[in-house]
Amino acid sequence: MGIGDVTEALTDEIRHLKIGISLAINRKLNASTVSELIRLQRLAERWLREKGYRYLSIPPDSDRRKGSFVSRLYELFSHKTAATCSGLGWIGKNGLIINPKYGPWLSWATVLTDAPFEPDEPIRESLCGECDLCVRYCPSEALTGRKWTVLSPYDEIVHYDRCKTLKEDIKSFDEKPNCGLCINICPYARKGLGVPSRDNSLSKREKKEFKELAY
Ligand code: SF4
Ligand code: SF4
Repeated sequence: MGIGDVTEALTDEIRHLKIGISLAINRKLNASTVSELIRLQRLAERWLREKGYRYLSIPPDSDRRKGSFVSRLYELFSHKTAATCSGLGWIGKNGLIINPKYGPWLSWATVLTDAPFEPDEPIRESLCGECDLCVRYCPSEALTGRKWTVLSPYDEIVHYDRCKTLKEDIKSFDEKPNCGLCINICPYARKGLGVPSRDNSLSKREKKEFKELAY
């Protein structure tokens, strides 16, 4: 968990909720991760309510169907903003939140509040350094290679339309869009899984293996 001052990212309707509580679990997003994140959100909400503070929960990234109530909450505020403002990670060249310890493996939820918490130190720019593995091996050339700063729009980092088209073309066994190569290839993802880190290149054989893994 981290606490961030998110003032700069708020729209008028939620301008009073200046603190973002960023919640993360080290698991892939699935039904049990979502229910655990919601449980943590409920605990935070109860505490805030009992102390008399206002709050708004942005749910875990589980339902982005256009028009659903939850999808409208996502548009209000991004988990990425809460995470970076709380110092829990930066936006990698793959467009995902990269946590220094767990890489891109975390699933996220956010609670915005007007409680006067002392914020953690934010991360304001990319810590990807010279690494560009995800950019080089993205099969749809969706990643621009630009380094994130708090001032960068996300669409300068990822061409989401290219990624979406490719993922829709590649269906996994349960018929959901699938790729994930930019996650699996990230050195921070290897670190998060406890696999030794490596240099900034892949052999031909490894590249082939990776493609087989991803598809
Ligand atoms: S999910 Fe696949 S297509 Fe999309 S950005 Fe990552 S590597 Fe590229
Ligand atoms: S693969 Fe490298 S460039 Fe891409 S997100 Fe991970 S650290 Fe950043």
